[in-house]
Amino acid sequence: MRDQEKTIGSFDIGIVGGGMVGAVLALLLEKVLPAFHIAIIDAESLEPKSLAPSLPSFDARSTALSPSSVRVIQQLGLWSQLLDYATPIESIHVSDRGRLGMATFDRDDNSGEPLGFVVENLGFGNVLLEALARAKRVTCFSKSTVESLAFSSRTAQFCLDNARRVDARLAVIADGAHSRLRNQLGISCARHDYQQHAVVANIFSEKAHGGRAYERFTQDGPLALLPLGRNANSHQSTIVWTFPTEQLEQVKLWQEQEFLHKLQQCFGFRLGRFTRVTARHFYPLERIVAREQVRSRMVLMGNAAHFLHPVAGQGFNLALRDALRLVESLREANDAQQDPGLLPVLQRYIDAQLPDQHVTMALSQAFIQFFRRIDRPSVLLRTLGFIGLETNSLAREQFIRQLSGRGQPEARIL
Ligand SMILES: Cc1cc2nc3c(=O)[nH]c(=O)nc-3n(C[C@H](O)[C@H](O)[C@H](O)COP(=O)(O)OP(=O)(O)OC[C@H]3O[C@@H](n4cnc5c(N)ncnc54)[C@H](O)[C@@H]3O)c2cc1C
Repeated sequence: MRDQEKTIGSFDIGIVGGGMVGAVLALLLEKVLPAFHIAIIDAESLEPKSLAPSLPSFDARSTALSPSSVRVIQQLGLWSQLLDYATPIESIHVSDRGRLGMATFDRDDNSGEPLGFVVENLGFGNVLLEALARAKRVTCFSKSTVESLAFSSRTAQFCLDNARRVDARLAVIADGAHSRLRNQLGISCARHDYQQHAVVANIFSEKAHGGRAYERFTQDGPLALLPLGRNANSHQSTIVWTFPTEQLEQVKLWQEQEFLHKLQQCFGFRLGRFTRVTARHFYPLERIVAREQVRSRMVLMGNAAHFLHPVAGQGFNLALRDALRLVESLREANDAQQDPGLLPVLQRYIDAQLPDQHVTMALSQAFIQFFRRIDRPSVLLRTLGFIGLETNSLAREQFIRQLSGRGQPEARIL
């Protein structure tokens, strides 16, 4: 602890980072552990309506929520507010550019329900921050940077800027993919630079999207196109289009018409002509996986624990399942009158959740590597894979189970 540091609060759980993951975790803890007091600390503003597209989590992107994630948001009582920013995915079309293979999935593959929902991050952020502002046992420390963490046998101490300090029995570090605190604690990561960037933007097309999401694999990287505009009649979609990093400067220079033309070449004319594109945002793509996720009084969450390629739309969905599993372990510990920061409690969490993390990461990785290869055996295998997905009900069921977040037993806490 530094000289003259002023303690401004003691809590059961302190969360660094009020991005999508930290914010949802705080709300889950509030709901499931009624005796707990929770602090959430973010370097940016946590005031509802203060969000701008430049912020790390609640930016101009959209997120595909799996049906199991949607259920969690519903159980938190936030779905009716989120509906204003949500578009159902009625079907998914997966294809290989320039080749025959393709597979389609629709509601029939998911017991008549949508295959997921696309939510706009800015709207999602406002709904979450409004809920945090209403949460009586959550204290938000806005515009406060955690400069370092220190640990004693009983507490984690969060040293904030302006010589203030917050204490908690457990520190959750959810400060993003390039987590400064993870690095300060000497936790190393397995890293893979895909040598790719993603450009994210909203586009408008001649034809309505009909609620269909497209996942198209090309030699340069995958292109995902997700429906927006709240219903199937909308002509607005969001794209996540990946390309080699060496093309970044060139792609940034494309004017609107050139961008639309290149996108059209890559995607084809299933939605007619693309007519407009909004501001484009660029993201470097890496896989970063922490080699340690728990220690006594500390757990890593969200992008700080694992940052995945966005192609399979799994990063937030997996982090939400992690959060549910952590809350389940903390509730069990609380029922047994155990301290939530004890290593065995946190070890129980990670032991239970690692299988889900491993399967999800392996699938995301396989998706990317498999679809990048253009040698004849790989192309043939892919085409056979598509045929299998089109015609084999067991293969379809497994694929949808994993995509919809039902691949592993669910934590039962809500
Ligand atoms: C292009 C793209 C598309 C994606 N699409 C999908 C999708 O469709 N479906 C899906 O499931 N996932 C998707 N993801 C993944 C998803 O966006 C992430 O899982 C999610 O953003 C993780 O958020 P987070 O809260 O862990 O981290 P972040 O969003 O990075 O938030 C970290 C927070 O910590 C704060 N912070 C950082 N350091 C400090 C500090 N020292 N003190 C205080 N505060 C601090 C920051 O201000 C920030 O608010 C996508 C990702 C990308 C890049």
